[in-house]
Amino acid sequence: MTTVNTNFLKLTANYLFVDIARKVKEFKEQNPDTKVISLGIGDVTSPLVPSVLNALHSAVDEMGEAEHFRGYGPEQGYDFLRRAIADYDYARRGLSINADDIFISDGAKSDLGNFQELFSADARVAVTDPVYPVYVDSNAMAGRNGEMKDGQWDRLLYLPVTKENGFVPELPKTRPDLIYLCYPNNPTGTVLSKDALKMWVDYALRENCVILYDSAYEAYIVDKDVPHSIYEIDGAEKVAVEFRSFSKTAGFTGLRCAYTVVPSALAVRDGKGGSVQLKSLWNRRQCTKYNGCPYIVQRAAEAVYSPEGRAEIEKVIVKYHENASRLSKAMEAMGLEVFGGVNAPYIWVHVPQGMQSWEFFNHLLHKAALVCTPGVGFGKSGEGYVRLTAFGSPSDTDEAIRRMKAL
Ligand SMILES: *Cc1c(COP(=O)(O)O)cnc(C)c1O
Repeated sequence: MTTVNTNFLKLTANYLFVDIARKVKEFKEQNPDTKVISLGIGDVTSPLVPSVLNALHSAVDEMGEAEHFRGYGPEQGYDFLRRAIADYDYARRGLSINADDIFISDGAKSDLGNFQELFSADARVAVTDPVYPVYVDSNAMAGRNGEMKDGQWDRLLYLPVTKENGFVPELPKTRPDLIYLCYPNNPTGTVLSKDALKMWVDYALRENCVILYDSAYEAYIVDKDVPHSIYEIDGAEKVAVEFRSFSKTAGFTGLRCAYTVVPSALAVRDGKGGSVQLKSLWNRRQCTKYNGCPYIVQRAAEAVYSPEGRAEIEKVIVKYHENASRLSKAMEAMGLEVFGGVNAPYIWVHVPQGMQSWEFFNHLLHKAALVCTPGVGFGKSGEGYVRLTAFGSPSDTDEAIRRMKAL
């Protein structure tokens, strides 16, 4: 009989969202007349903005005209979009990223999950705790994480981020090959200052590590001193890959478009005494396994960079920011410690003394018909916290706040 990749069998099912759904369903059955409001939504709710829709419509029409029809596009993405990204997201901020180093894709989740393929099977991996699960599970599938013991992988380096260390991961005692960092952070909504990010880039330069930097929430940054890109740190182009997405920036979670920057200057050991450009390997990997993001979607993404497009998406983000700010204030008024929620659509709430994540989840559900996400679901160090998201409608957010005040 054929044997499967047994690494898949070591993965524990992610019960978090299943457990939440079950508890919410039970509550609704017992309280059929109560409207349950979810503050756990990890997806945008505002529709696509007009500029994006218009670009999408015209691109669809082009596809029906013989002289404009497009078949397979470049695996790396169309030049018009790669140049718009290089100009707007980088050159405008004084960063010189070559359009040629930008790879367009159908999502940051797939790029983040796929990128580990480029590294040796015994590479050591470091992740923050709590963490976005994709980094951990994709390396587990490749057999890099060892065995699961007491809810943690024994070969994975966990970097706790808690209120005790101000949500800044400390440098590890043993050297990892790969370091996943996500800022602004999901789930905590916290950010790294330029100095903190520099500490990590300098460490990677000194120890020859690769940083896989997920900045899916870059568009939510409002504080002036928070870096938008890891390439704002000197030398980062030699050690870091940056992942970005139009999902949270412009409501593309259903449309699907993202990009990954793999700088030409980033090289790793080839196992034979020499070195090899990561970019050439990623290009090889994409050309083999991927046929590119749809033309119509790339035209829609290009429209995000038009002056009208920028103004329209800015309004949507401001609306989410306002939700976050009102939610944070309401939680603080309940006497709770609140983190994040300023440069990110996520609020990380420290639950009342002596309570655990799930107890507070039950409390909010049964006393106020509100749904949050228990922090422990994102990792051990998330115990004692819950995540709230600002992606709900303003009216639902207001109603949620009224209920919290009544608690
Ligand atoms: C939403 C999200 C992404 C974006 O994923 P897409 O596949 O581009 O939709 C990436 N990283 C994190 C941490 C996210 O929360």
